[in-house]
Amino acid sequence: MAEETQVKEFELTEDSELRFEVGDEDVVLELVKGCAEVFGTDLQENKKYAFPPYTRVAVYTWKEAVVELVGPAESAYVAKHTPMVIYLNTHAAMEQVRQHRETKDSLSKGPRLMLVGPTDVGKSTVGRILCNYAVRQGRTPVYVDLDVGQGSISIPGTIGATLIQKTADVVEGFEREHPLVYNFGYATPSANISLYETLVKELADTVTRQVSENDEARIGGMIINTCGWVTGEGYSCLSMAASAFEVDVIVVLDHERLYNDLSRDLPPFVKLLHQPKSGGVETRSKESRVLARAASIHRYFYGTRSHHLFPFTFDIQVSDVILCKIGTEKIPESCLPFGVEPENHETKVVDMSLAPDLVHHLFALSPCTEIGPAVTKASVMGFILVTAVNMETSSMTVLCPQNVLPTKVLVYMDLTHVDDQVQR
Ligand code: ATP
Repeated sequence: MAEETQVKEFELTEDSELRFEVGDEDVVLELVKGCAEVFGTDLQENKKYAFPPYTRVAVYTWKEAVVELVGPAESAYVAKHTPMVIYLNTHAAMEQVRQHRETKDSLSKGPRLMLVGPTDVGKSTVGRILCNYAVRQGRTPVYVDLDVGQGSISIPGTIGATLIQKTADVVEGFEREHPLVYNFGYATPSANISLYETLVKELADTVTRQVSENDEARIGGMIINTCGWVTGEGYSCLSMAASAFEVDVIVVLDHERLYNDLSRDLPPFVKLLHQPKSGGVETRSKESRVLARAASIHRYFYGTRSHHLFPFTFDIQVSDVILCKIGTEKIPESCLPFGVEPENHETKVVDMSLAPDLVHHLFALSPCTEIGPAVTKASVMGFILVTAVNMETSSMTVLCPQNVLPTKVLVYMDLTHVDDQVQR
């Protein structure tokens, strides 16, 4: 006997939200009546939004709404207390700053807001809401993601920035077209702090330069998402990022100690706000973070349900490319000739040979033509995945978004991914 489809209707009153988690099967959401939004994007009445497995969603209404869920949604409930008014006020304050600076002079830049806090406090979600509200107001902010673990601009192991011109798709989030991306290679900044800091500064300089040439982007400001590593060196990385991006406002989500530490250490011209996290954000397990990273890499090569991509698989001879990696072992000072300063081994680019254990590793495609310091700081053209290594023929099989490599210089990433060749 066919299983009965589960259909549930929820009535939402002003300033409340329906929260649910998708289990193993899709859940379809429909706005039956009224107005509601998902993380800042308005829902269209009677349109069906199919959420894929393992997503957590909140459907919020400023007025009232009737929504329907079809499918086995886990723990669906209506919450009457949400921090949405606080997030809306943050947007309103940013908009005031834009309006004020717009009339001041033709070089003024829009507000730069950085979101900080431990993992699972909803930083990315608040970033999405603020970007969406800005777009709905007719602005084009730049979204910067410094989270190398769960970033949303490109694959994990990268940092990047993208101009937001359209509200996020309700199911798939923001479009990932033409972002500016830097390859870090690891899922946590602690793996190579020196490289992480170098890339954050490089990204900040490049974005600042690019927005200075586009009036709308310049006044749209920046919304900067960060990693959830907030203690020790993680804290220093946050302060460094705040200074590199010359942020005006830092929003600390949830973490009181971080707020206190920052209020002690930040210069007075940076406005510091302490805001609550939403009760809907739940702590994700290590496994679900690994799954989310795999899904992000899969999306890079294969696209999404509504925007399929068709990557190519082909062999490359190692003699036709240059394999390299950033960071190497430190040379003991006693081994250096007298008077020679040691190089920063963490950001040094060194060549690599083919090895069987390169299989399943990702490589970034560098626009550089040879190995040198420029490789470290260059934004990347894209990524390939090594799906097989053949030591006998000195070749490797790669999965690539296009049918030829656009460059010879391939930069190793510590991150791995097993290509399942399945369209999700
Ligand atoms: P990390 O630092 O680990 O990347 P984060 O602090 O950026 O985490 P988010 O990714 O924004 O946290 O949120 C974690 C999860 O909670 C996401 O799956 C998001 O969809 C979900 N979520 C956020 N806000 C709500 C809400 N109000 N109701 C239900 N789920 C929510």
